[in-house]
Amino acid sequence: MSHDAQPDASLYIAGRFAEGEGEALPVHYPYDGAVIATLRAATPKQVAQAMAAAQAAQPAWAALRPVERGRVLIRAAQIIRDRAEELARLETLDTGKPIQETRVADWPSGAEALEYFGGLAPTVTGQAIPLGGDFVYTIREALGVCAGIGAWNYPSQIACWKAAPALAMGNAMVFKPSEETPLGALKLAEILTEAGLPPGIFNVVQGGGAVGAALATDPRVAKVSLTGSVATGQKVYAAAAEGMRHVTMELGGKSPLIVFDDASLEDAVGAAVLANFYSSGQVCSNGTRVFVQEGILPAFLERLAKRLAAVRIGDPLDEATQHGPIISPAQLCKVRAAIERGQSEGARLVCGGPGEGTFVPPTVFAGVTDDMWIAREEIFGPVMSVLGFATEAEAVARANATPYGLAAGVFTRDLARGHRVAAALQAGTTWINAYNLTPVEAPFGGVKLSGIGRENSAAAIEHYSQLKSVYVGMGGVDAPY
Ligand code: NDP
Repeated sequence: MSHDAQPDASLYIAGRFAEGEGEALPVHYPYDGAVIATLRAATPKQVAQAMAAAQAAQPAWAALRPVERGRVLIRAAQIIRDRAEELARLETLDTGKPIQETRVADWPSGAEALEYFGGLAPTVTGQAIPLGGDFVYTIREALGVCAGIGAWNYPSQIACWKAAPALAMGNAMVFKPSEETPLGALKLAEILTEAGLPPGIFNVVQGGGAVGAALATDPRVAKVSLTGSVATGQKVYAAAAEGMRHVTMELGGKSPLIVFDDASLEDAVGAAVLANFYSSGQVCSNGTRVFVQEGILPAFLERLAKRLAAVRIGDPLDEATQHGPIISPAQLCKVRAAIERGQSEGARLVCGGPGEGTFVPPTVFAGVTDDMWIAREEIFGPVMSVLGFATEAEAVARANATPYGLAAGVFTRDLARGHRVAAALQAGTTWINAYNLTPVEAPFGGVKLSGIGRENSAAAIEHYSQLKSVYVGMGGVDAPY
């Protein structure tokens, strides 16, 4: 089957495809490096065109009844579902993630966001504040033009998670996907147009960091929402501060997963697998520091190695494949260097290793200590560190001893302990007896260096709108002079 994934053109501005006039951006199928499309970056002039289109279209979109805006998003969700197989295949080509994952995780999650925020839009109301005669009412209004900047690991989901609440609240968006995975956002633009979105409300520009930086500093932009690394987040947040722009920062992590000796071993092992190896480990919320209580540590490692030995690695388009390649040669180098570093620091390789070709197999290190590089830094690949612990207090203290705070998990059958530990963990999202489930109904985002703001849930509405107070004077004006 052909792997050609060339879109009609590289950019989407004012409801139409437009060819980029900047540098060429070849798009590779991560499995074999084959070029599946060649896009062109947006020039500064084209970024300005996208901004102008968004700015011109936004007021009329914001002036629609929320139920009308919501209807467009819900229709788009339906189109995504109707085209599920084609979209899953495209996502697999763009990201190298197994088709059995992209069928259930990526676009389906994007469709849910569109559906959820489409339904939520008409429910957003203000407050009336009585003042004994006079009164104040509040209006939750759109911000204006929002910039979205995406990472490469969940390109379509990220585009939907940002566009859905932004558009639901009456904003327009200019979105820049990662240059590694530029295809999904263009599909979303096409689908939104088909669903009835007015031209200019969702625009896509392509390019690298310079194009992202142009969005973050454009005076027409009221808000910047980034999914990416902490280093990029710090730059974008600082750039946004210049113009006092709103931000949502979904950044990286080094999240802990704590397994107590009373936990269901099989469930805890399964969660550790999902917390580390889904999407070849390229997931921001991954629980890459697995703290296991000493009594069950040998059994945990044995069960883990046995289950991982059965993982099917191969062409992501093959329905049987469970573990795909790493996104790019550059990321492969980083992940392999991290594995070497773990070995040289004295951690014990339980299974996996550097791998061959474009693959790194599920890799587990035991005997990891808190000071090792692999226990401190985000690897963004399929590398799990297992650390032993004795007491609850110790596990919590060590889990929190990180500058990150995106996610955390705890496995125990002790109900009180589960809630106590979840409360004590410094993370934006915490799971008890589960891991990496991110339903659209629940807020998602980080604390500490892992970010600011929340995606999904009603909380996201607040991050894509601002509150206006309207004071209504009901009597005369009593001026003192
Ligand atoms: P990067 O931070 O490298 O890039 C993220 C996006 O920002 C890309 O589109 C990138 O462009 C763009 N960018 C780069 N420099 C700038 C700049 N100066 N100004 C504006 N935009 C810029 O992250 P990756 O794409 O490598 O993704 C991996 C990282 O993302 C991991 O650290 C991971 O933890 C994090 N992540 C966080 C998630 C979360 O929700 N918390 C979810 C997914 C990933 P380009 O790459 O095209 O040059």
